[in-house]
Amino acid sequence: MTSRRALVVEDERTINDALADRLRAEGYTVDQAFDGPSAVDLASATHPDVVLLDVMLPGFDGLEVCRRIQADRPVPVLMLTARDDEADVLVGLGVGADDYLTKPFSMREVVARVSALLRRVERAAALADERPAVLEVGGVRIDPGARRTTVAGETVHLTPTEFDLLLCLAREPGQVLSRERLLREVWDWGDSWGSPSASRTVDSHVKALRSKVGPSRIRTVHGVGYALEEQP
Ligand code: CA
Repeated sequence: MTSRRALVVEDERTINDALADRLRAEGYTVDQAFDGPSAVDLASATHPDVVLLDVMLPGFDGLEVCRRIQADRPVPVLMLTARDDEADVLVGLGVGADDYLTKPFSMREVVARVSALLRRVERAAALADERPAVLEVGGVRIDPGARRTTVAGETVHLTPTEFDLLLCLAREPGQVLSRERLLREVWDWGDSWGSPSASRTVDSHVKALRSKVGPSRIRTVHGVGYALEEQP
């Protein structure tokens, strides 16, 4: 099997090198960028399978980098944020990042998240090949093969994570799915549950999804999880 290619974008040299070293030790081919513009150039030259992206960068920031590389072609992005509450802002902006890690993070956690992201991408590709049935819940129509969503007949643009989250909820309409279960099935997290950033990740993406499909369609059950309403 050919080696997976990762692009590490981080202006702090010691963090960048530590990430690159660890990923190389795990068998990845790694390219490194230290500012916004060179990250975009490198991404279009090397076609990485996954991008690790710091938010605060010289040149232009990680959000702009994310937008530009996603415009070129879809690639899973793990954002590296300085504060936990930044994830909320980032998800709300809908720049197309799939997951977030708050500094300081352990290298073990980085490796786990990167491989979870790659598994998700492969699973989505396999699903697209299967041409699974279109789901319809309370006026929300989800086509898993084409990865297209319409709400009351209007096309809604979802990020890959928002789409996977909606699909997971739509498979069991009206049922409350716990955050733990959503983390496992949508994000493919195994043992990271329990960290504050884990529930923050789910809540941030649900908030962003709600703003696109309509707030009344997703019910919150406090302390438990979320459900997609059959009759919003
Ligand atoms: Ca930085």
